[in-house]
Amino acid sequence: MRRVCVFCGSSPGARPAYAEATAEFARALVSEGLGLVYGGANRGLMATLADAALAADGEVTGVIPSALVDKEIAHNGLADLRVVGSMHERKALMADLSDAFVALPGGLGTLEELLEIYTWAQLGLHRKPCALLDVEGYYARLAEFLEHVVEECFLREEHRAMLIVERHPRVLIDRLRRFEPGAVQPKWIGREET
Ligand code: AMP
Repeated sequence: MRRVCVFCGSSPGARPAYAEATAEFARALVSEGLGLVYGGANRGLMATLADAALAADGEVTGVIPSALVDKEIAHNGLADLRVVGSMHERKALMADLSDAFVALPGGLGTLEELLEIYTWAQLGLHRKPCALLDVEGYYARLAEFLEHVVEECFLREEHRAMLIVERHPRVLIDRLRRFEPGAVQPKWIGREET
């Protein structure tokens, strides 16, 4: 594992714990010798993440669509800022550059980015780990909802279990390293299997 892609809020969120955990996760990545790939913005938790990694002398790659350079304010401290043509190009490049994907607390953008890359894992389009850093239980209800999705036969338990949910930054990195993707399961669940 060489680079970890982090999705997180372009807002800071309601609790100081979100920024504290974001900075701690960034420092943990750097101290483990891992590069950071993120959305290239200088706002909210995204700014906290990049600033903490840069302060620790980490390698940070930002990927931002040209339309968001002004709105999200591209981070001007990055040695490696890639400006791309669209949201789709952003996600495709982030996926190519990274060996693992982690969502920290965030809003719709964060959820969309994580769920897309997790969906690609479910389809066997990549075999890289996907994870949630569950700061103060922020993702507990999403994890619970995914159990409901399994109970209602829209998701296989094997696919639900692929998503790592972890509260501690260092333990999360260790779990990313130890992740074994297992055999690719068919995505579709038929009547006969329920
Ligand atoms: P949010 O979690 O909503 O604060 O957004 C976090 C990041 O996700 C921001 O950089 C958004 O620009 C980005 N984002 C939002 N929607 C999308 C999308 N459809 N594709 C790629 N990035 C997105």
